Amino acid sequence: MEVRDKRRLGEQIEPGGRPKAPGRLELLQRFVNSYNHDFPREWDRIGTPDRAKAWLRQKRLVAPGDRVSDADVARLRELREAIRALAIANQRGQPEAAATDVIRTLSATAQLGVAIDDTGRTALEPTRGGVDGAVATLVGILHEAQLTGHWLRLKGCRRCGYAFFDRSKNRSAAWCAMSICGNRTKNRAYYRRRRTSER
Ligand SMILES: [Zn+2]
Repeated sequence: MEVRDKRRLGEQIEPGGRPKAPGRLELLQRFVNSYNHDFPREWDRIGTPDRAKAWLRQKRLVAPGDRVSDADVARLRELREAIRALAIANQRGQPEAAATDVIRTLSATAQLGVAIDDTGRTALEPTRGGVDGAVATLVGILHEAQLTGHWLRLKGCRRCGYAFFDRSKNRSAAWCAMSICGNRTKNRAYYRRRRTSER
């Protein structure tokens, strides 16, 4: 894969060319995939206040005048890794307590209210603006996806941590893409076996 394409992974390009998550869960998927530990630190789409602001603006998670500080970047990244840990736990069961603690703590200042429109449709909306509102929206999407059951299909790849949406019938997909991570993992197992048999 070319560098130009790698830089678009998780935003314009899905790892493995999988279809993206449905509805608003796509936004949470993009948030988790705003960085991947395989790539240079500077590629983090929310890695600095300016980059985070641009990303949040693009997703309409903050308003034009909203400020994003270094502390906001830190809590957004903390939230991202905690949600990634939850997505990885969708493969293996219970998430680490540290991850749920982070989300619990960050949600305390990021509150949601039930909004109702003229047709009677309700929606969870943040009660504050700025990064508090963005955090609330993201946690609200996590909640919604758990209600619809879609959440269990958003998985963190066992190897690279990319969040991918598992559309397989029995929810058995374990890697973001067999062509990237699945094969890498299988190759490693193959070389391990070969080394063992050569001894
Ligand atoms: Zn992967």
